[in-house]
Amino acid sequence: MDTASSSFRAAERIGRIKPSPSTAAAARVRELKAEGRRILDLTVGEPDFDTPDHIKRAAIAAIEAGETKYTPVNGTPLLREAIRGSLLRTHGIEYSDAEITVGGGGKQVIFLALMATVDAGDEVLVPAPYWVSYPDMVRANEGTPVIVPTSVETGYKLTPATLEAAITERTSWVILNSPGNPSGAVYTAEELGALAEVLRRHPRVSVLSDEIYSEISYTGSAALSLAAVAPDLRHRVLVVSGVSKSYAMTGWRLGYAAGDPALVRAINTLQSQTSSCPSSISQAAAAAALSGPQDFIAETVPVYAERRDAAVAGISAIEGLDPLVPDGAFYLYVDCAGLIGRRTEEGDTLADDQDVTLYLLDRAGVAVIQGSAYGQSPFFRISFATDLETIRAAIDAIADAVGALR
Ligand code: PMP
Repeated sequence: MDTASSSFRAAERIGRIKPSPSTAAAARVRELKAEGRRILDLTVGEPDFDTPDHIKRAAIAAIEAGETKYTPVNGTPLLREAIRGSLLRTHGIEYSDAEITVGGGGKQVIFLALMATVDAGDEVLVPAPYWVSYPDMVRANEGTPVIVPTSVETGYKLTPATLEAAITERTSWVILNSPGNPSGAVYTAEELGALAEVLRRHPRVSVLSDEIYSEISYTGSAALSLAAVAPDLRHRVLVVSGVSKSYAMTGWRLGYAAGDPALVRAINTLQSQTSSCPSSISQAAAAAALSGPQDFIAETVPVYAERRDAAVAGISAIEGLDPLVPDGAFYLYVDCAGLIGRRTEEGDTLADDQDVTLYLLDRAGVAVIQGSAYGQSPFFRISFATDLETIRAAIDAIADAVGALR
């Protein structure tokens, strides 16, 4: 329809937010590919593996058994049981049924948790670099995202001092994301323990612990949760996770959360008025993923680790680029300050990380996402959830493009 004649009027909240930059980057890559250009795509935030067969079979069995109807708002009993079993296995925490809820992806669960708790003007602490969606989800729910910068000195992790300094009487949540997107940073038990000390002094502050990448960890075990490290704070920690990343199930749209039963009830109320419940079929698949054999994780983490090592070695060797070695997730977060101010063969100056990513896309045919999307510049994020061949070819092309700068 011709926009000039449209009577569409967006709500004020739409003006406060923007579409996810990673989705936008993916669209740009699709466009260039459609034009016939060969693009090495390092933007994707999802595993390149297929969903394991036993999980698919559980979904097919559910369809054939007629499990094709609405389920309880907080998920099928089978799925809730599988989630509890998984949290016991990874965190050593015994959650009750009333502490568990499910949704259409971790993303939806986080959104509903904020919607259920944030009033106009409430502050939500978001350590930067952050997953692109947090600030906009807070804004969409009329809260105020308070960006708390971190630096390479602390491995892009929040410290007790920065946390303490950022808390005000309006603070309702602090978001912790370990392993982190885009940094790959994983909080140690000591670091979580030190943050817990601060949180004990501020009983009104809750913690949204986004653990969607917890199993994709290169430290030898699943990433730790604040809820496990500080059991006394358990009711103030909402653990959010899902099957998207660990089990290569991004398209199934199934996430979950564990926390205070009153908060879980509030999330369920919103869920009952939005989607009613996630897909019954995806729930059956997720139950199989969480309670079935865990070989897929044991097999894929070493594959990611090999790619990580190749990406770190390749990028570190390029003058002007400085990556943080990630302890988890499948991203490499690269400081590109060394390229800012340099000139392309055409005589254009790279003024910021947006210029750097556009240059890499045009000159090298490599798609990455600029740090400004994650609230920190000048950086870019490489996803290594793609095959080694593509990673190696992309690094060669980046090295070549950087080498051509003056
Ligand atoms: N948290 C983080 C940090 C993520 O990177 C993602 C996916 N990009 C999610 C949550 C949401 O994942 P999903 O909705 O697929 O469960």
